[in-house]
Amino acid sequence: MIEMKNVSKWYGNFQVLTDCTTDIKKGEVVVVCGPSGSGKSTLIKTINALEPFQKGEITVDGIAVHDPKTNLPKLRSRVGMVFQHFELFPHLSVTENLTLAQIKVLGRSPSDALAHGLKYLDRVGLSAQKDKFPGQLSGGQQQRVAIARALSMDPIVMLFDEPTSALDPEMVGEVLDVMVQLAHEGMTMMCVTHEMGFARKVSNRVIFMDQGKIVEDCPKDDFFNKPEERSPRAKDFLSKIL
Ligand code: ADP
Ligand code: MG
Repeated sequence: MIEMKNVSKWYGNFQVLTDCTTDIKKGEVVVVCGPSGSGKSTLIKTINALEPFQKGEITVDGIAVHDPKTNLPKLRSRVGMVFQHFELFPHLSVTENLTLAQIKVLGRSPSDALAHGLKYLDRVGLSAQKDKFPGQLSGGQQQRVAIARALSMDPIVMLFDEPTSALDPEMVGEVLDVMVQLAHEGMTMMCVTHEMGFARKVSNRVIFMDQGKIVEDCPKDDFFNKPEERSPRAKDFLSKIL
């Protein structure tokens, strides 16, 4: 579903990504972790071309992200993304947030878009909030709306960048529950998160990044249960968060 080959990126002289290579198969759930500043956000954003890169290749379901001729809006419409800060449109109601891109990007009729959006709003347990504005919702509710909005586009893969790190602790669970459900339904997911409970429960693989490099890319069980096989940086990281 996602193939990434030798992706490198520089900001001026600073190399933020170095030869990142991995692939994610359909239905796989891959957790990306690593210290702050290691390039996790940059890596995940290269997949839907939110961050350009100078070297390497990425294809998403056969679409070549590195090819300048690729229609980026079309690519982005297939790749759902959920950020740390929910990034809902504050001046639009929940319903309008859910339908806008469906209408503008996918060309759905307002009634189709609404039916579709409400289906996913129901999935995340927020049907009753459909006429509210983001500011009237809790952080956890806003993030669930953001997930429903991404799902309303019928993405082939979902990218998450620390979706629970900006939430009050009591709201982390409700967002993780939605993500767990999504994983169990077979969604292909790449999640930057330090929620190791989530990683243990539903991920297939864990990628560990350090200083712009993919240092570990291994099955979840190896990552958590065979510390002796891990790199010193990954061991150090694990010892701090587990
Ligand atoms: P992470 O998500 O793992 O915390 P990021 O991908 O956000 O890491 O950042 C990786 C590195 O790139 C950091 O050192 C950060 O300071 C640097 N960086 C991020 N964005 C920019 C930018 N626009 N210009 C220059 N450096 C940047
Ligand atoms: Mg980040």
